Amino acid sequence: MTDKKPVCTRIAPSPTGDPHIGTAYTALFNYVFARHHGGRFILRIEDTDQTRSTAASEQAIFSALKWVGIPWDEGPDIGGPYGPYRQSERTEIYRKHIRQLVESGHAYPCFCSADRLKELRQEQMAAKEDPRYDGHCLHISPEEAQERIDAGEPHVIRLKVPAEGSCVMPERLRGEVTIEWKTVDHQVLQKTDGFPTYHLANVVDDHLMGVTHVIRGEEWISSLPKHFYLYEAFGWETPEFVHMPLLRNPDKSKLSKRKNPTSISYYRDSGILPQAVRNYLGMMAYTLPSGEEMFSMEEMAESFDIDRISMGGPVFDQTKLRWLNGRYLREQMTPEQVLGQLQDWKLNDATWLKIIPLAQKRLEALSDLMPLAGFIFEDRLEYNPLDLVPKKMEAEQVVPLLRKALWEVNDLREWDAQTLREIFERMSEQEELKLKQLLPIFFVAFCGKPVSLPLFDSMELLGKDMVQRRLQYALEALATEGYELKGKKLKALEKEFRQQQGSRQ
Ligand code: GLU
Ligand code: ZN
Repeated sequence: MTDKKPVCTRIAPSPTGDPHIGTAYTALFNYVFARHHGGRFILRIEDTDQTRSTAASEQAIFSALKWVGIPWDEGPDIGGPYGPYRQSERTEIYRKHIRQLVESGHAYPCFCSADRLKELRQEQMAAKEDPRYDGHCLHISPEEAQERIDAGEPHVIRLKVPAEGSCVMPERLRGEVTIEWKTVDHQVLQKTDGFPTYHLANVVDDHLMGVTHVIRGEEWISSLPKHFYLYEAFGWETPEFVHMPLLRNPDKSKLSKRKNPTSISYYRDSGILPQAVRNYLGMMAYTLPSGEEMFSMEEMAESFDIDRISMGGPVFDQTKLRWLNGRYLREQMTPEQVLGQLQDWKLNDATWLKIIPLAQKRLEALSDLMPLAGFIFEDRLEYNPLDLVPKKMEAEQVVPLLRKALWEVNDLREWDAQTLREIFERMSEQEELKLKQLLPIFFVAFCGKPVSLPLFDSMELLGKDMVQRRLQYALEALATEGYELKGKKLKALEKEFRQQQGSRQ
């Protein structure tokens, strides 16, 4: 079957938020598999969720994957024979396919109001059932449905999956996956606004783009019956499905930014080398036949055997990553090469020309620069945790302020000194603290000292990921002294924060 077609894989990120290290991990395995078989590797942007997708996030995906060094053969930025590669530009294609499904009886229009669906969900939850559509509109005749559509009645199109039995599906790493149909919802394929949902667009594109192997995260296994059903409904051959084990925090929970940095740019900003990131991500689920831990992407591609993907929950461990990165710096590079890496990273004129205007007023001698600006180049700063607590304040007051700042920063889409200033000014008003009282906390968190280069410009220079990380370090530092907000108290604080946020919108 699929063996005869030329191999084609893809990475299909949604441009919402900061490019995730998990995207690079999945991209890497798709890339090495395609290379091993002399096939193509596509980057497709899945921006069907128009409310959450942004052009900035799409750009960030391109640059993050470029920095990691995983090249794609076709994509929205470079084109290719199966374009467009951005789903928002393919709406007509999806409409046509959805119409086909309705005509063949595999999908149907649903006119249920949001209120009815909400009520249904509440009833089901009260009865301890999984919330799912009840098939209410299944029995509307095609004629009646057409009349209502012509009359402009809002509707979605749903997938009509079988009511009973189970769906048995081949899966490369698991042999077979069996899921009962009664756990599968009548998925919305087309939303009221006429846009398709992920499931439909994803299957249609994989087929039309000639994808032979879908290598993606384990979290998509539960969607597999919908996808198989769609392939069957269209009469298309299914690609081979390969679900990668998810990256985990050291406590084995799914990798999350509360416990670990997940954004690719954080690793870049903290001085990890792209070759070490690729190697480490490869190690998460693959070992070379020789057992050697240090390998290049080319070596991985050369020996790659999909059936040797290991299924244990791989722990993305910062200490191990740094150890591996250290090996690259020590064992594989001349001093000149290390210098080149440093320059590519941050030690270059462009960065200095941003720092010097901030530092100039504070210089008496050139030698004053480094003590002032060193924090820009560091990752975790050395300070005494209690330095985070300004005079006349208590550590118990500081922890919630750091938390709120972290939430504020997480939500930010713009990243410039002015926007950051506004956040802290608002915070000072809301907390009834003068800026003069509030800011020393953050000077210590971001610069390591209560007095430093201008705070908001420094934050702009450090970048969002590093600022988030330093807030987390500060919270960790206070936790080591026993000052920490957890569980219910943390939830209550977040609620208070969301209310404050809501009241100013
Ligand atoms: N757009 C999906 C995502 O964001 C793609 C999942 C898949 O690879 O099928 O991960
Ligand atoms: Zn309905």
